[in-house]
Amino acid sequence: MEIACLDLEGVLVPEIWIKFAEKTGIDALKATTRDIPDYDILMQQRLRLLDEHGYGLREIQEVIATLTPLDGAIEFVDWLRERFQVVILSDTFYEFSQPLMRQLGWPTLFCHRLEVDDSNRVVDYCLRQKDPKRQSVIAFKSLYYRVIAAGDSYNDTTMLSEAHAGILFHAPQNVKDEFPQFPSVDTYEDLKKAFINASERSISL
Ligand SMILES: [Mg+2]
Repeated sequence: MEIACLDLEGVLVPEIWIKFAEKTGIDALKATTRDIPDYDILMQQRLRLLDEHGYGLREIQEVIATLTPLDGAIEFVDWLRERFQVVILSDTFYEFSQPLMRQLGWPTLFCHRLEVDDSNRVVDYCLRQKDPKRQSVIAFKSLYYRVIAAGDSYNDTTMLSEAHAGILFHAPQNVKDEFPQFPSVDTYEDLKKAFINASERSISL
């Protein structure tokens, strides 16, 4: 049995925080772990900025609902789900991803969650576990699945290494250079072929 694990942001949908920052004009929300390496400090800053600008969960979801998956992503997910069991492993939050997951037809998603109070204010966040993408692959392997994984960035590399086969998709050059052991593709057509190559079954395009 084979299972396909996909990263979400940068692979199927845009970077949600960056798009949200562009849509709302809150430039400080564009900061990522590249600017603030400590994830907790970064998230506390993001939650404070949401408060300062009066964004509760409802308003955030309304803005995110104006975003669309990347061109070709919906068709790609449909293609993949006809051929593999598909699980999306992401560091986003269920509450953020909801409007985009709806457009993707609600594939299975493992990610984190936000804590929202009765007044719609985002008060905290809750990470599912440490190194969640890799831990998910380990769990699937314990169920005797053969795992093929694809992602675009540093937070995917432990998942790609743990999988039986890892594929870089839309990866920036520095990630490609640092992880030459993974095949790297940039279009959904090539990603389909990479999944077919990585599979032990004979699958048609
Ligand atoms: Mg990503």
